[in-house]
Amino acid sequence: MVATFLYEGKAKKVFETDDPNEVIIIFKDDATAFNAQKKDSFSEKGRVNLAFSKYFFDLLHENGVKTHVVSFIDETSMRAKKVDIIPLEVVVRNLAAGSLCRRLGFEKGMALNPPLCEFYLKDDALDDPILCREHIRYMNTATEEELSYIEQQALKVNEIIYNFMDSNNITLVDFKLEFGRTSEGEIILADEISPDTCRFWVKGTMESLDKDVYREDKGDLVGSYKKLAEILGLEL
Ligand code: UDP
Repeated sequence: MVATFLYEGKAKKVFETDDPNEVIIIFKDDATAFNAQKKDSFSEKGRVNLAFSKYFFDLLHENGVKTHVVSFIDETSMRAKKVDIIPLEVVVRNLAAGSLCRRLGFEKGMALNPPLCEFYLKDDALDDPILCREHIRYMNTATEEELSYIEQQALKVNEIIYNFMDSNNITLVDFKLEFGRTSEGEIILADEISPDTCRFWVKGTMESLDKDVYREDKGDLVGSYKKLAEILGLEL
């Protein structure tokens, strides 16, 4: 199989394959926070995040959500449908945390019922600003109809993962998704779902088992991801 380098992001590398409709994504050990102002590398992080992504994508497939996954190749790489990523970070929140508290002064842990869905522009140079639908209307990224579909899919993903994690004594606080368009124009869920892109708290506490451990220097990052895996019975 021929694999030509295509793109490198903060946590992943993407390679072309001999099939023009598929790519190989390699999960790196790098961690960044605050728009890459903080950067480090953690042994095993790529492998652990890919294992979580597989775990959550499998759960979503069982529940009828369409994603970019084709197959999982080895411990750090997966084969995915080639998509044009829609430059929106779609965030769903069940409890207030992170930027929502910083920006609006909401108390950390405040319940958001019904869950809040937000859009941010995926643009590091602009520091990923929050968008309202009116802004997106002027961008050539998604139609109103596509945006409604994306929001509905994001809320469905939230319901599936929230309920699953809740039954395992973990609260899904919030998470970020990215969607892409296939060559046939279909919008599907892309990127990853892992403790890098979600906030998970031990139920009834604010104990983080996610990237906040790194953002806030709260201890051993990969150790906390492994603790989450153990709670879920996920073998790493
Ligand atoms: N998130 C992400 N990538 C980003 C920004 C946010 O995966 O570039 C995730 C983050 O892990 C959290 C959720 O989206 O689960 C909401 O993040 P928030 O807006 O609170 O930003 P932060 O506090 O991380 O700056």
